[in-house]
Amino acid sequence: MKIVVCVRQGTDGLINPFDACAYEAALSINNAEVILLSMGPASTQPFLTEMTRLGASRAILLSDPQFAGSDTLATAYILALAVGELQPDLVICGRQTLVGDTGQVGPMLSALLLYPLIANVMRVVSTEGELVCETRSQGMQTAAYPALMTIERINRLRLPSIRSKTKSVEIWDHVRLSAQPERCGLHGSPTRVLETYQNDAGRRKCRFIEPSELETTIAEARQKDRHPVVASIQNRQGLKNVWIIGEEPREMASSVSDDICLIPRDTAEHLAQRIREGRPSAVLWASDAWSKSTAAQTAALLQIGLCADCTALETDGATLFMYRPAFSGSLIAKIRCLTTPAMATVRTTQKDDSDVVLAVGYGARNHFSALEKWGSAIGAAMASSRKAVDNDLMPYDTQVGLTGKTLAPAVYIAVGVSGAVHHLVGMRNAGTVIAINPDKDAPIFEYADYGIVAEVESVIS
Ligand SMILES: Cc1cc2nc3c(=O)[nH]c(=O)nc-3n(C[C@H](O)[C@H](O)[C@H](O)COP(=O)(O)OP(=O)(O)OC[C@H]3O[C@@H](n4cnc5c(N)ncnc54)[C@H](O)[C@@H]3O)c2cc1C
Repeated sequence: MKIVVCVRQGTDGLINPFDACAYEAALSINNAEVILLSMGPASTQPFLTEMTRLGASRAILLSDPQFAGSDTLATAYILALAVGELQPDLVICGRQTLVGDTGQVGPMLSALLLYPLIANVMRVVSTEGELVCETRSQGMQTAAYPALMTIERINRLRLPSIRSKTKSVEIWDHVRLSAQPERCGLHGSPTRVLETYQNDAGRRKCRFIEPSELETTIAEARQKDRHPVVASIQNRQGLKNVWIIGEEPREMASSVSDDICLIPRDTAEHLAQRIREGRPSAVLWASDAWSKSTAAQTAALLQIGLCADCTALETDGATLFMYRPAFSGSLIAKIRCLTTPAMATVRTTQKDDSDVVLAVGYGARNHFSALEKWGSAIGAAMASSRKAVDNDLMPYDTQVGLTGKTLAPAVYIAVGVSGAVHHLVGMRNAGTVIAINPDKDAPIFEYADYGIVAEVESVIS
């Protein structure tokens, strides 16, 4: 079996962690010929050379000044040309990069290649005859070859053996690929960042309390009346003919339009056809795994821009402006699509069964069982930070934040959570926020109503 693995060098100089899992998954398949494919500047060549030590038979670097500034669609186009030439049985991509974090390139690549996609793979069950994988949220999936899969963080990339040798890296430019220059780089990228702002959303004035006041503070916060402010377009000029795929994006759509049409979930091919015929001005998707991958496939089929994980929308009546955290979340970027319809996946608030959520971060790692006991005693639902999830302390479906879920409970108790902007995005609409952290300068206190400066073990035993 011939396998192409798409990899990218991270800002730390190492292989993007999700791509490391993709490479390991490929190397684990018996008798496979593994080809590494990477798009990047010429300076990434030594990284790719080093990667060949682990067992790839070839490594190809797609590098050309024309490719600079490519967004996800232009990147997928360039990768698709290379994969088209290599004719593999299987393409494996990491679920996402840690820099862009959109998770769009793999699904877009599958749509451009017309390969079936299995996204968010947790386990490769069989590669004999057809591809069978267990996925994160869509159960067992099967695909005929040639196929493409995107991999979660499910394994650890092997280390090179002492006697391993490197192979030389082939460099392919736009001429070698017969790429159309207008579909590469900035020219071929239908999304534009218009402005960036300091990200101050969700800041609160924190009152520091004693550990002994915790239980009464929670009880009082539970009783507080909440009047959620839902932005609405009334008395302003809204967008006409806005489509929502599934019910979840309706609240966000209402902030820019009162002309909203609900479209049921379907395949990317069918949805692309409906969009071609119905000509909406904007199409909004939820942020669950299915929506993210199907939105990316649909955008690739229509060759239009897709903005990921928007936290707010705005319009002047003609253009949709989309806001999302950028540059490690310290800034908010205002983005527009140059193509029509404007498309975005939007953060939607998940309704939780409990009015209290207890979020545990990496700082509470040695006290999880005590916290779980305490959480259950006060009737709290458990949640976590990404660092807790990445360290296998909590399951992914408890992760709150940009790449997790958004919650808005009456009370959000953050224990051992530093307050990275990526986390705050998912909890800033909570009624009352209570933070427990021994570091009085931890950013979480700037986004909390009540704070206890203490180690968790001295507050909850
Ligand atoms: C593109 C991208 C997307 C991301 N998406 C998300 C996301 O969706 N959700 C998310 O959460 N993160 C996300 N992150 C990661 C985020 O940037 C942070 O790294 C992460 O939130 C930090 O987790 P933490 O607060 O648990 O850990 P840390 O940052 O390590 O903080 C631990 C905290 O615990 C405190 N502490 C230490 N000891 C104790 C003790 N005994 N008791 C109590 N407190 C203690 C420390 O003072 C510290 O403030 C993302 C990052 C990127 C780059």
